[in-house]
Amino acid sequence: MAEIEREAMEYDVVIVGAGPAGLSAAIRLKQLDADLNVVVLEKGSEVGAHILSGAVLDPVGLTALIPDWKEKGAPLNTPVIEDNFLMLGEGGKIRVPNWPMPPLMNNHGNYIVSMANVCRWMAEQAEEMGIEIFPGMSCSELVYGDNGEVKGVVAGEFGKNPDGTPGPSYEPGMELHGKYVFLSEGARGSLSKEVIAKYDLSKGHCPQKFGLGMKEIWEIDPAKHKLGSVTHTMGWPLGSNAGGGSFIYHLENNQVYIGFVVHLNYENPYLFPYMEFQRFKHHPMIAELLEGGKRVAYGARAITEGGWQSMPKMVAPGVALLGCSVGMVNVPRIKGNHNAMLSGKAAAEAAYEAIQAGRSADELTAYETEVRTGAIGQDLKKVRNVKPMWSKWGLLPSLAFGGLDMWTNTFGFSFFGTLKHGKSDAAATGEAKNFKPIDYPKPDGKISFDRLTNVSFSFTNHEESQPCHLQLKDPSIPLKVNLPKYAEPAQRYCPAGVYEVVEEEGKEPRFVINFQNCVHCKTCDIKDPSQNINWTTPQGGDGPNYPNM
Ligand SMILES: Cc1cc2nc3c(=O)[nH]c(=O)nc-3n(C[C@H](O)[C@H](O)[C@H](O)COP(=O)(O)OP(=O)(O)OC[C@H]3O[C@@H](n4cnc5c(N)ncnc54)[C@H](O)[C@@H]3O)c2cc1C
Repeated sequence: MAEIEREAMEYDVVIVGAGPAGLSAAIRLKQLDADLNVVVLEKGSEVGAHILSGAVLDPVGLTALIPDWKEKGAPLNTPVIEDNFLMLGEGGKIRVPNWPMPPLMNNHGNYIVSMANVCRWMAEQAEEMGIEIFPGMSCSELVYGDNGEVKGVVAGEFGKNPDGTPGPSYEPGMELHGKYVFLSEGARGSLSKEVIAKYDLSKGHCPQKFGLGMKEIWEIDPAKHKLGSVTHTMGWPLGSNAGGGSFIYHLENNQVYIGFVVHLNYENPYLFPYMEFQRFKHHPMIAELLEGGKRVAYGARAITEGGWQSMPKMVAPGVALLGCSVGMVNVPRIKGNHNAMLSGKAAAEAAYEAIQAGRSADELTAYETEVRTGAIGQDLKKVRNVKPMWSKWGLLPSLAFGGLDMWTNTFGFSFFGTLKHGKSDAAATGEAKNFKPIDYPKPDGKISFDRLTNVSFSFTNHEESQPCHLQLKDPSIPLKVNLPKYAEPAQRYCPAGVYEVVEEEGKEPRFVINFQNCVHCKTCDIKDPSQNINWTTPQGGDGPNYPNM
C-alpha cells in the first residue's frame, strides 16, 4: 500500500486508553496547569465500554487525585462490610478466618464499584476541565521521530477492506503528536508490547505473568442479596490443574459480580478456563445463590500477575507506560485500579515538571522512580513472593508461606528474598501427549451457559468487513504445530470462542478465527504456546460494550 498521508495534531501529552490510569494522568495534568493541551484516545465506543474490573476499589488512588470525590458524586456507593475467604471442595467449603490474614488483605474502607461507571464519572470530571476525550478511536500505530523517540500515535483509521487495502469509505485517521505519549492500555497493550520490545524494556526483569479473568453480572433474589459482602474462594474446581479462584461481590440493585480467574501459567493444554468458570457456579453454595436470578452481562479480560519482579522499565524516549501496561496488580488483593490511578498521577507530575523545564521527547525517569520507590512500589513489594510461591509449590504451601511472607514484609523483611517467576505463560504450556483431556459437564442454560450465548451478553460487535485484527505470524502454525503438539489450546483458552479447528469428514482440518466475537481480553496473544498470534486493534468503537461491569 502506498504511503498514507495523514493530518497531524500537536498536543502536550497524548494519552492512549481511558481507563483509570489514563484518565488519572489527564486529570492531574490539567490540575497542575489548566493550559496544557491533553488528549485521551479510547478504542471503546464510549468510556467504560471496555472496562471489566467490577471491582473492590481501594480509594487511595482516587483520594490522592480528587480528595473531594464524595462531594463530587463519584459512584462509590457500596462500602465493603463483610469479607469472606473460603476454601472450596466439590460439595463443601471451609472458611479461612480473617485474623491470621496480614492487614493489607483487609477490605475495610474499600468499595464495591462498577469500574466502568467510575471511569465514566472520571471522564466527566476530565471533560469539565477541558480535556479532549475521543472514544471510538483505536490507536493502531506508533509514530516515531527522527531520533527514534516516540512522537505520537495514529488513531481513527476506518474502513479498510478485509485484505487491508482502503475500502470505499476509507478514513486514514490522524497522527496525534505529543511532547510525551502515555500508553495506558491495560494488560498486554498492543502498542505497549511494541514499545517494550523495541526498547528492550523487559531486560533484567522477570517475564510478565497473567491470569484470565471472566465475569458475569447477576441480578439475584433480594432475599439472598447481602449488600457490601465480598467473598473470595480458592480450591475447587481448579484443584492442582491451575492457580486461580473466584470473587463474589454484592453491589447495588440486588446485583452480584461473579468472577473467576485462571492463572495462565497452567500446563495442561486441555484445560478450558471458561468451562472451569461455568462448572464453579454449580458448587452448592454458588448455585443456591444464583437460583432464581438472571445473568445480565458477561465479559473477560487478562489481568497482570507478575507484580514487582515483572514490571519492565516504564519509560523510553517520548513515552511512558502507565498502570497495567506494565502490570501493577497486587495479586493477593486482586487490586490494581488504585495503583493505575497513582501511576497516572505520577506520570502526569513528571511530564508537567519536564514540560515546565522546556523538555520533550526524553525519558521521564522521575515517573519510574516514583513508581518503584513510592506507594505503588511499597504496595507491590510486600506481596512479591505470593505468586511465585503459588506457581512453584501449589495452593496450600503458598497460602502458609505466602501469608508468613506478607506478614514479615509488613515489618519490612522477608525470609525468602525476592523469588523469581519462571517461564512466560506461553512457555509453561505442556504437550498434549503428557495430559488427559478434561471432561466438562454441559452447561444447563440456567446457571451455566455455552460460550457463544454468554458472549452475546458482552454486547460485542465488530464490523465484519475489516481485516482480522488477530494476526497470525505464520498461518500454518495452528494446524501444523499447535494441533498435533498442544491439541490447539486456542479452542479452549479463548473465553469468547474466537478460535475453532473445524474437522469435517474427508476434508483437511481448518483453523477458523471468528474475530467478530473477540472481547479484547488478549489471552491469545499471551497464551499461544508458539507465540504466533498478534492481537492488534480493530477499528475504533468495535469490541465489547460493557454496561456497568
Ligand atoms: C476480572 C478482573 C477483576 C479485577 N478485579 C479488580 C478489583 O476488584 N479491584 C482492583 O483494584 N482491580 C481489579 N482488577 C485489576 C484492574 O482491572 C486493573 O489493574 C486496571 O484495570 C488497570 O487499569 P489501566 O487503566 O491500566 O487499564 P484498563 O483498565 O485495562 O484500561 C485500559 C483502557 O485503554 C483502552 N485501550 C487499550 N488499548 C488501546 C489502544 N491501542 N487505543 C485506544 N484505546 C486503548 C481500553 O479499551 C481500556 O479502556 C481486576 C482485573 C480483572 C481482569
